Amino acid sequence: MCFWLNFAEQNKFFFVIALIYPYFQSQLRFLKKYNFVFAGGGLSGLCTAYYLSLSGIDFESALILDRDEKNVDDRTWCFWSSLPAAFEGLVSHKWRQLGVAFEDFSRLERIGGNGYQLVRSLDFYRFVEDRLRSDGRFEWLQSGIRRMLPEGDGVRVELVGGGSVVGDRVFNSIPAFSGDTGLPARPSFLWQHFMGWVIETDAPVFDPSAPLLMDFFDGTELPDVHFYYLLPQSERKALVEYTVFSEAVFASGVYEEKLERYIRMKFGEGAYRITATERGAIPMTDRVFPQIEADRIFNIGTAGGWVKPSTGYAFVRTLERSKALVAALSEGKEKEVRLGSRSRFVFYDRLLLNILQEEGYRGGGIFRALFKRNRIVSVLKFLEERSNLLEEVRIFMRLPVRTFLRALVRVYLPRIFEGYQHYRAKLKIRFRYDF
Ligand SMILES: Cc1cc2nc3c(=O)[nH]c(=O)nc-3n(C[C@H](O)[C@H](O)[C@H](O)COP(=O)(O)OP(=O)(O)OC[C@H]3O[C@@H](n4cnc5c(N)ncnc54)[C@H](O)[C@@H]3O)c2cc1C
Repeated sequence: MCFWLNFAEQNKFFFVIALIYPYFQSQLRFLKKYNFVFAGGGLSGLCTAYYLSLSGIDFESALILDRDEKNVDDRTWCFWSSLPAAFEGLVSHKWRQLGVAFEDFSRLERIGGNGYQLVRSLDFYRFVEDRLRSDGRFEWLQSGIRRMLPEGDGVRVELVGGGSVVGDRVFNSIPAFSGDTGLPARPSFLWQHFMGWVIETDAPVFDPSAPLLMDFFDGTELPDVHFYYLLPQSERKALVEYTVFSEAVFASGVYEEKLERYIRMKFGEGAYRITATERGAIPMTDRVFPQIEADRIFNIGTAGGWVKPSTGYAFVRTLERSKALVAALSEGKEKEVRLGSRSRFVFYDRLLLNILQEEGYRGGGIFRALFKRNRIVSVLKFLEERSNLLEEVRIFMRLPVRTFLRALVRVYLPRIFEGYQHYRAKLKIRFRYDF
């Protein structure tokens, strides 16, 4: 005992160092400075990192920060546009036809082009990760992010477990950190919330050539817009999803009960196994998201307003916009580049969203009118924002005029009034300073 006390006394310095070393080591690891930090390494973070790696931009280091490991298949991404060639190999399933079903009519149509396509998120995560690992300039850190603070000529990103990293620039895809533009208008806001099961049945009950984008019929009527999404991949395997547009998400039991009921109603009482589950809540809003925050933080993905407000689709938009953002960055025009939709599509989305929010189930009726009187392929082109003005006029002429007039009044009257108030407040401030 005496020997050890003497030993400790003589080597005090080394003991103290041994005790505090692990703490400092962990802090030092987090003090590294990077040229780019990706706050969130999901779809938009990885996509932007991918294009950054391919670009001629001169940088030494980039960090991808995410609280999750991204090693699970957490999303089934579907879309109907062509993909950039590099990602085409990730398409794991294609349907040439697409259908919709309502209480009083249903329709199945050939949709042309590359059809309705499916990419599994895990294939995408792996593909991009392989590319970035071979680049050598990218590092990964699995950690939650607490907040981001502009500091000097960079941004300090504080981590949940303590410590922080610094980036010259940050690509933020975490909606909680995307601020407000401070516009006077009140935005619409709905959650598109859903749960999906991949099920396998003993009996061949599915038609693999007949996916349903929206099936509004389950024999019940709810006040919100609710529908089912059915993607049969074989006669015995399909993804079935229950989706709702509403202001609040449901407790999980509700989705499960609905799915169970729908499967029984559509495909009989035969046995089935759930082999995978996916769940999500996508914000559908016409709120204006700031593209650049605090000078050095770029908001991307959902946090940058890249989700199509009236549909919740974001996959192809994210591929396109992250590519455009990196191209602008390489030309030093990242502050000028406009990544949003063209103004007439912003206008359409605003009206559609308002109808969905304010007219509840009758909003479901908007989809009914849209699909009953227009070809599915025309509606898809319109929702993808690739239609021309004439095609849009044709679509709108077949929709209930009064519903749109009501939405026009609801959306724009308060905006005009608030805009006027805002303008007057501004004038007052100027007058106070000027005189
Ligand atoms: C289940 C599901 C299915 C979808 N299907 C389709 C579809 O078929 N077609 C389509 O076009 N769109 C679809 N979408 C919409 C959209 O394409 C996805 O939401 C897409 O993932 C959005 O990309 P993102 O980068 O904005 O967000 P994400 O991919 O969610 O990336 C954000 C990342 O940030 C991380 N993160 C969040 N908070 C923190 C924190 N505090 N600290 C650290 N990390 C954090 C998350 O772990 C995540 O990896 C779907 C969405 C979901 C949820």
